[in-house]
Amino acid sequence: MKVVKFGGTSVGSGESIRCILNILQQKNSSGEKFIVVSSAMSGITNLLTELAQTASTGNDYKSGLTEIEQKHFAVVKEMIEVKNQNPVFTQIKIFINELEDLLQGVYSLRELSLQSKDLILSYGEKCSTFLLSQIARQYFAESMFVDATQLIKTDSNFGNAKVDIPRTEEIIREFVSSHKEKMLFVTGFIASNDENRTTTLGRGGSDYTAAIIGAAVEAKEIELWSDVDGMLTADPRVVKKAFSLSELSYTEAMELSYFGAKVIYPPAMIPAFGKKIPILLKNTFNTEFQGTRVQECIEKTPYPIKGISSINEISLFNITGSGMIGKIGFSGKLFSLLAREQINVILITQSSSEHSITFAIEPKDMAKARALFHSEFELELETNKLNPPIIEEHLSVLAIVGENMKQTPGISGKLFHALGRNGINIHAIAQGSSEYNISVIIKRKNISKALNTVHDAFFKELTKTLHVFSIGTGNIGSTLFEQIQKQSSFLRENNDIEIKVAGIANSRKMLINEDGIELNQWKDLLDQQGETASLEEFVNRIKLLNLSNCVFIDNTASPVPGKFYHQLFESNVSVVTCNKIANSSSYKEYKLLKDTARRRGVDFFYETNVGAGLPIIRTLKDLMTSGDRILKIEAILSGTISYIFNNFTGDASFYDVVKKAQELGFTEPDPRDDLSGKDFMRKVMILARDAGHTTEEKDVKLGAILPESCIAASSVDAFYEELKNSDAYFNDLKEKARKENKVLRYIGKLEDGKASVNLEMVDSSHPFYNLSGSDNIISFTTERYKFNPLVVKGPGAGAEVTAAGVFADLINVGAS
Ligand code: ADP
Ligand code: ASP
Ligand code: MG
Repeated sequence: MKVVKFGGTSVGSGESIRCILNILQQKNSSGEKFIVVSSAMSGITNLLTELAQTASTGNDYKSGLTEIEQKHFAVVKEMIEVKNQNPVFTQIKIFINELEDLLQGVYSLRELSLQSKDLILSYGEKCSTFLLSQIARQYFAESMFVDATQLIKTDSNFGNAKVDIPRTEEIIREFVSSHKEKMLFVTGFIASNDENRTTTLGRGGSDYTAAIIGAAVEAKEIELWSDVDGMLTADPRVVKKAFSLSELSYTEAMELSYFGAKVIYPPAMIPAFGKKIPILLKNTFNTEFQGTRVQECIEKTPYPIKGISSINEISLFNITGSGMIGKIGFSGKLFSLLAREQINVILITQSSSEHSITFAIEPKDMAKARALFHSEFELELETNKLNPPIIEEHLSVLAIVGENMKQTPGISGKLFHALGRNGINIHAIAQGSSEYNISVIIKRKNISKALNTVHDAFFKELTKTLHVFSIGTGNIGSTLFEQIQKQSSFLRENNDIEIKVAGIANSRKMLINEDGIELNQWKDLLDQQGETASLEEFVNRIKLLNLSNCVFIDNTASPVPGKFYHQLFESNVSVVTCNKIANSSSYKEYKLLKDTARRRGVDFFYETNVGAGLPIIRTLKDLMTSGDRILKIEAILSGTISYIFNNFTGDASFYDVVKKAQELGFTEPDPRDDLSGKDFMRKVMILARDAGHTTEEKDVKLGAILPESCIAASSVDAFYEELKNSDAYFNDLKEKARKENKVLRYIGKLEDGKASVNLEMVDSSHPFYNLSGSDNIISFTTERYKFNPLVVKGPGAGAEVTAAGVFADLINVGAS
């Protein structure tokens, strides 16, 4: 024998009832015996609650009642043969009329007791289960409708009645054995007290009904059919990556459901656990799914936790004061008081100094809890032994659950790290001594982000999603999008990283789509769907969306975006930038950005500020963090200047080389922007800062390449004229170098904390002697690399390598 329970969504429409019929037919044809339990149609219990409330405040409930009638009638019309419809319509109409009388009574009295409310709610299950039994009768003649108020006996705690298990089991057993030939369709959720008044078992209570019946008849299994693939690692409506679990222990299922995984009602575990009856969570709409099995012995899984659940709206009640210290029985008194008044305490934490107790309750109970506290502890409050309670509202509980957590160190560390990194503050923490559950209390507005973040952290084998907001759609920006698009499946398969570009902006337009912008048509989408660009608005939207693992990418050369980095860090967004303006502004600004990123636990990556995609910043950082000491850095960090001096050999004149460089597109429109050495100098300054110095622009000694006359020329043409006139000057330099077997190199240097950029002559023993093309080169002389410096060399400019550097930074976000 099995008990098969169908939830509200499974009986919500003709179409879903057809799925139920298929399931029952299959069971029947395989000779299985079963009892069916059914909830009210989805949404009906809520609607009835609303109607009862509406009636009690003297408002019109009639249209709601018609809606209920229509919903059931529509299913009758769709699912029952015309010739058999009349008696079904009649019975439903009788139920609706009874309901109307009750609501009219509430309306007239302007009073809604818990007792009347239970009676009103019971019609949801009565209508749906009756209807289901009548539909089923067309296929199974032995179908029989059973009102559970006949079977389940409870106390008179209306709204959440306690079942008298021994008596109920006896009644059920007797009833079932005297209806052996029948296929029973029993109403979930409802029961009755000694005086046969209708009671209910708490919201979601149909699961409990099924478990009670299952335990009474010692069923082989209790099947709960819903609209999801069993119990998932998190609520699938919030966490898209949640996946189905094949097994859970009773305790795990209890903890997950107690903390919000609605797919089972927690008390349902008790009768099943008592008789060791497995509960199988199945999906009415996907019968292929094997189900989540809740049972005593389960296999170990590779994950440290089983799942994450949450209660979305709770309030915290904080009590502090010396009156609690060492006072035996204080907590006992407090919590029995709350229990007496039916206030459900969701979670409790107490500091070890006993100076404070914090507990979480539902917001609806707060006023009552506060009043109780004030009246019960009036004396203590007056004598300042207790402080007035502090109430915190709009909070949520997030709980991670799993038996594997037991005695596994580092679980809470991982939880707190994941939350901290995403800027989610924890208001309180509770861990049950069972170690099956760690709960944290956070702000309600962060719950969705928190669930996703924590899910990513604990189910690492799953893909981590980076949400990218990228500004600048020039060469580098568009090359980056191409690279991301090309690499996306590789990254997903090999690195478990999914990159969602959730926002793109340039100076004209911006587009945001939290599900990810299609990168193969980003240009058209930005053009057609983009709004007028406003960086401020773009940043605000990033903050409002509050997505997990957010990265802002600045691929512009504008001074404006840098002004937003600080607030982005404060909102726990990482920044990746090839724009060096922020890092080369004042040291104070640079320091503030670095410190803020560190404090907020997010990343600030700017590898491409120096030498494009070459691993220069990263190498420097690795040397420093591994405890090496930088003695000297020498570098050529301008591709243009590198090209010019590498080719200023033999008979070539300086003028010819510069001209050629310009023709090849290696220079800025005005070559003096390169030859002034300013850009190079900023790169040296960033390196000096990263090496731990407080270098400002004025501290870097910048030696000139060009004679004064070239610098002073009023136009690019005039500059070239002057350059030609200066041939002798450059030739002299070249000759002088040649005579000493040296070459000219424009070199940036950091030594003893002093930064400079100078035109120098180097001999063949110097690593820069043989440089060719437009390569960049940097050599680090350190305590460890003292006699043979560490050299990084390669192309240091170009959209392709710069975008690749930005890309590498991006996928490193969150890696440490
Ligand atoms: P029924 O009416 O069938 O009893 P419920 O609405 O009571 O169904 O519960 C099923 C719902 O529980 C799912 O639709 C899902 O949105 C929600 N849910 C929350 N957390 C989880 C979870 N961890 N796994 C599965 N479902 C969950
Ligand atoms: N219909 C009831 C409710 O919505 C019971 C249930 O669905 O399990 O709470
Ligand atoms: Mg339910």
